[in-house]
Amino acid sequence: MRALVAGGAGFIGSHLCDRLIADGLEVVCVDNLITGNFNNLDKIKNSPLFKFFKADVSAPIDPEIIPDGVDLIFHLASPASPNPRSPLSYLNHPFETLSVNSIGTRNLLYLAQMYHAKFLFASTSEIYGDPKISPQKEDYWGNVNPNGLRSCYDEAKRFGEALTMAYYRKFKTDVRIVRIFNTYGPKMDKRDGRVIVNFINQALENKPITIYGQGSQTRSFCYISDLIEQLNLAMFDPKTTGEVFNLGNDHEFTIKRLADLIITLTDSQSKIIYEDLPEDDPTNRCPNLKKLENVLNYFLHVSLRDGLLKTIAYFRSGIV
Ligand code: NAD
Ligand code: UDP
Repeated sequence: MRALVAGGAGFIGSHLCDRLIADGLEVVCVDNLITGNFNNLDKIKNSPLFKFFKADVSAPIDPEIIPDGVDLIFHLASPASPNPRSPLSYLNHPFETLSVNSIGTRNLLYLAQMYHAKFLFASTSEIYGDPKISPQKEDYWGNVNPNGLRSCYDEAKRFGEALTMAYYRKFKTDVRIVRIFNTYGPKMDKRDGRVIVNFINQALENKPITIYGQGSQTRSFCYISDLIEQLNLAMFDPKTTGEVFNLGNDHEFTIKRLADLIITLTDSQSKIIYEDLPEDDPTNRCPNLKKLENVLNYFLHVSLRDGLLKTIAYFRSGIV
């Protein structure tokens, strides 16, 4: 079986490639490295099952990268950090973000239709915007600012979802949409700007921990190994065709509590400082995972504490 992983050199994509290779699949990774890093693929880059193509999936995709077709397409390609202070942020790449989730999705869906491949679109909890209900269930339509600061990401993902469902309804392409909630772990880029990366690196360097706003906003953090299991189930289980699934972890924490926990786990001397809350920063976010549990029978394995310890060990090791 052959899988194409678009965005396979990124944080989630590279863990997925590792897993697919370990399971004996052939993997074709396509990535333009706009926010990813080829070093993330160190473990598998020499595997005879693995091929890497540096290419932009928003441009027409050369069918020669998969001359014998493909069985599975994972579309994970997109900048993902909302932090404008990071060079990797989608806010610093708005047109690339809009393109990869619209034109890029179209290009990959076209391949899926041509080769009768199963297709998975990595959408996001951001499509719920600043949610007015909690936890967020898949049938909630969200509360999104259509032209606000984050719209280049949120609306592009919403368009990507619409396009994916259009292929399903019109051509019966074997698609599924997953809405990924905040995920963290080793292989995140130190410059990423998302909260766990910032707090761990600030704590390890005994620098001030930067809480934006009062720290009362909530997020629910999923460790990468749980997410990879969920992604696999979502792709392979026949009950996911044409369906939308929340993926993540439903234990909700305030950002202040996260900061305190990271200071404790790193035994840091860092003090907390409070900075301005960015525009349209969601006040809360927590997935309703009943569908994942009931349909795919998935239950979480890694607690926030254990996941943070593994992530801290990664950043402490200085691999990045
Ligand atoms: P990441 O930035 O580490 O990985 C994204 C990868 O896509 C990078 O390797 C990047 O170079 C590649 N890419 C971007 N545009 C491309 C293009 N036009 N052509 C080819 N490659 C391209 O981010 P991540 O955290 O691993 O996120 C992966 C996917 O999951 C994204 O689609 C993101 O929107 C989604 N997601 C992630 C999270 C999270 O918490 N990490 C949450 C919700 C959704
Ligand atoms: N945040 C913070 N300090 C940081 C980075 C982020 O307080 O150094 C906050 C951010 O404002 C948001 C939450 O942490 O409320 C999660 O931010 P992240 O960038 O990880 O992703 P988001 O969930 O907003 O997409």
